[in-house]
Amino acid sequence: MNITLSATLAANEEISRRRRAGERVLNLAFGEAGLPVHPALRERLAAAAGENGYGPVAGLAALREAAAGYWHRRGLPTDPELVVCGPGSKPLLYGLLLAIGGDVVLPMPSWVSYAAQAELAGARPVLVPAPPGEGGVPDPELVVSAVRRARARGRDVRSLLVTLPDNPTGTLAATGTVKKIADVARELDLTIISDEIYRDLVHDPASDFLSPAVPAPERTVVTTGLSKSLALGGWRIGVARLPSAELCTRLLAVASEIWSSPAAPVQHAAAYAYTEPAELLERTERSRRLHGAVARAVHARFVRAGAVVAAPQGGFYLYPDFTGLDFATSGDLAARLLDRHGVAVLPGHVFGDDPAGLRVRVATSLLYGETDERRLAALDAADPLSLPWISASLDHLGDALGRLSTGSDAGRGRGRTASASTAA
Ligand code: PMP
Ligand code: GLU
Repeated sequence: MNITLSATLAANEEISRRRRAGERVLNLAFGEAGLPVHPALRERLAAAAGENGYGPVAGLAALREAAAGYWHRRGLPTDPELVVCGPGSKPLLYGLLLAIGGDVVLPMPSWVSYAAQAELAGARPVLVPAPPGEGGVPDPELVVSAVRRARARGRDVRSLLVTLPDNPTGTLAATGTVKKIADVARELDLTIISDEIYRDLVHDPASDFLSPAVPAPERTVVTTGLSKSLALGGWRIGVARLPSAELCTRLLAVASEIWSSPAAPVQHAAAYAYTEPAELLERTERSRRLHGAVARAVHARFVRAGAVVAAPQGGFYLYPDFTGLDFATSGDLAARLLDRHGVAVLPGHVFGDDPAGLRVRVATSLLYGETDERRLAALDAADPLSLPWISASLDHLGDALGRLSTGSDAGRGRGRTASASTAA
């Protein structure tokens, strides 16, 4: 098995190495929320520091109940007995692939870890392009034939994964597409895994959001966590909502053999977070606005440089397309941006995209500042783009993209601008 360090984490480590060596690097490669811990959560964590028992595999009752309440308030009535907590949603997703078994249908492009986890679990992903203009869902029109073909070749396809809203494209699938995916999953008898970790960071609160757990409650697992909405990535806490006791039991068996239980003090803080007190709702709300404002500003820089890039709808990602520039692969394009311009992004091929497609993933959430003080100022600012450290980063990016697209950075890629720009 050819397993390497996950591209997101590897990029983060490479950027730290370059910075220690004195290079100036804009980190647009790592999707960390880039905001401080809310003081109320610090207090809850500190107060629970003495909790050193393992606790139940599924998580503390208070956390399972709070998570059930969180989903209930979003139109998904939830039995706390069918909630499983884990050390991040990433291990929960891996545990689910093991518990469900068989091969999994993934959208193309999709987050780096899904395909890698499938391979670790001894499965193979069936990659199906997202519908034109959408991301995070495999095109329902193509799923049926792809699964039938794979099954005809003897493959045991059992699940289908969606990301709502999406990483890497920053877009949110239309409710009509989600309904079609639910129908297709039923027709093909597939379990749907709905990764909704960015759900509370949809930029426009008036957007229609449909979880496939609404139209297909009998077959949809929902996963989420606090890494994005409350910036707790390093605390490692996630939750899954299972559609049946049978799958729940299987996931618990996997969990018990891999992580035993999530860290007890973190679970206490997370139980508080999932009750959604006003102070934390307000923090997520401010974060949502900041992520949206900065993602839109970065989007404008890419549009100006001639890239074709969908307008961001949720989370903190963009997926610009530089078709027309003279690079052989997205890896070459990303390498040029890093080596010559100090701009770190991830090449589209690590998301399962065609290496010859000149697309890169841009994460915008590490532009808020390097210190808690600056990050809080960004959260509080009426116009975060006018903060000097944010505007300096945007200028750095704008200059780099300008030189890349006009070819004034010399060498390959010179003199050709990407095809006509549109904000999808
Ligand atoms: N899903 C997606 C789409 C992500 O971007 C991430 C980022 N880490 C995760 C899941 C996992 O997050 P965590 O393990 O921190 O819950
Ligand atoms: N999800 C983040 C990203 O896509 C990073 C964290 C991780 O990969 O575990 O960049």
